[in-house]
Amino acid sequence: MGFYCPDCGYRSKKKIPHVQCPACDSTAIQSTGRSRDKQLQSPRQRNLRLVILIALWTFLIIEIYNKLYN
Ligand SMILES: [Zn+2]
Repeated sequence: MGFYCPDCGYRSKKKIPHVQCPACDSTAIQSTGRSRDKQLQSPRQRNLRLVILIALWTFLIIEIYNKLYN
């Protein structure tokens, strides 16, 4: 998680405790990174991803079991 300043283009991967850009003191900074992507996802999308994840793991375990015992 980091931030990006649209006013001066300052970009950092560090998390800053305040909401001002350390380079130009702009308050219009935007947070970047994965945490923002997660917030944009709807709960429905997250549920779908979880279902796909469980289905793939189940498939993998069944395939490994079949390889070992057949
Ligand atoms: Zn700035």
